[in-house]
Amino acid sequence: MLIVMRAQATEDDIRAVCRKVEALGYRAHAMPGAQRTAIGITGNQGEVEAGTFDDMAGVQEVIRVSKPYKLVSRDVKPDNTVITFHGSPATIGGQNLAIIAGPCAIESREQVFAIAERVARAGAQFFRGGAYKPRTSPYTFQGLGEEGLRILAEVRDRFGLLIVTEAVDYESLELVERYADVIQIGARNMQNFSLLKRAGRARKPVLLKRGISATLEEFLMAAEYVMSEGNYNVILCERGVRTFVDHTRNTLDLSVIPAVQRVSHLPIIADPSHGTGKREKVTPLARACVAAGADGLIIEVHNDPDRALSDGMQSLFPDQFDALMVQVKQIAAVLEREVLPIKPELSPASTNVPEPARAR
Ligand code: PEP
Ligand code: MN
Repeated sequence: MLIVMRAQATEDDIRAVCRKVEALGYRAHAMPGAQRTAIGITGNQGEVEAGTFDDMAGVQEVIRVSKPYKLVSRDVKPDNTVITFHGSPATIGGQNLAIIAGPCAIESREQVFAIAERVARAGAQFFRGGAYKPRTSPYTFQGLGEEGLRILAEVRDRFGLLIVTEAVDYESLELVERYADVIQIGARNMQNFSLLKRAGRARKPVLLKRGISATLEEFLMAAEYVMSEGNYNVILCERGVRTFVDHTRNTLDLSVIPAVQRVSHLPIIADPSHGTGKREKVTPLARACVAAGADGLIIEVHNDPDRALSDGMQSLFPDQFDALMVQVKQIAAVLEREVLPIKPELSPASTNVPEPARAR
C-alpha cells in the first residue's frame, strides 16, 4: 500500500498519516519526491484498508502495490534517488557519473597510497578496496581487517576520496560503518538477509552488488530488505552473473541497467572488473556500461597487478585507468553527464601534488 500525498500537503499532514500507519502496527516510510511525498507502508501481512486514509488531510490517493517490492519502486518515488555526501561534491545517481576505483584488496599503506594518488588524478571521486575479503579459498589472503580500514581513512584525509569498502558480516559491518563512506555488500552476501537488515539500520549508504545468479526481482528484493529498515540510500551494482561461457569470469548483464531504471528510482552502477575478470575486457565493457546509462563505474586498479594478492588478472594498470577515464568523460558528455573531479587541483591537467587534507 502506498499513500500519495498532494503537492500542497503540509509536514503536519504527512506526520499525521505516518502516525496513523504506526498506530495500526505497521511501519511508515515517507519518501519525499520532486513533486510530492509518498508514504510506503511495510510490515502489513494482508491488505490495509484504503478507507482508513482516504479522508485524511493532504492525501491525494491510496494505491495498492501489486509488485513484491515497494520502497525500491518508482511507484513510491518517481524521480531518481541522488545520494549525496557531507563535505564532498560527489554524488551517486543524478547528472554526475560516480567513479569508484582502487585495488581489490587493501594490501599495504604504500600500495594503497600509490594507487589512490593515480585514481584521484584521473578523476575518480571514490576509492575502493577490501579490508575484509570474501575469498573462495580459506587459504588465500583474507584482508587486513581494521588495519585496512585505518589505511582507507588515511586515503580519505590525504586525497579527499570517499571510501567504499565491503562488510562481510555483522562484526565487520560495525567497523566499516565507522570508517567508510559507503558500505559494500558483496555478491555472495546479496541474500544474507540478516546482514541486509543490519545494513538497513546503518547510517551510511549501502552499495549492494548483484548476486552471482540473482534475477532482477531477487536483486530488487535484496535492496528492499535494506530500505525496509529505514536506510533509503542504496546503490545497486551489476557485477556480472554466472553463465555457461568461459571466455569471461562472469557475464556482465548490461541490459539490467535500463531494466532497473524502468522500475526503480535507485542508482545503478556497473563493475566491469568482476563482470569480465580479464583485464583486456574491462575497458571495452566499462565504455559500454556508461553508454548503457549506468550511474557510475567500479573499477579495480593496481600499481603492480602481477603481484596483487587478489584479482590481479582483472586489475587495470594506472595508465590504462587514465586512458579509460578520458574515454568515459567523452561518452558521458554524449549523454549530457559529467565526471566531476573531487578537487580541481587533482585534475589530470594539474601537476600539483595536493596538500594533505586535515584529519576529520
Ligand atoms: C569486490 O568488489 O572486490 C568483490 C569481492 O566483488 P563481488 O562481491 O562482486 O564478487
Ligand atoms: Mn575483487
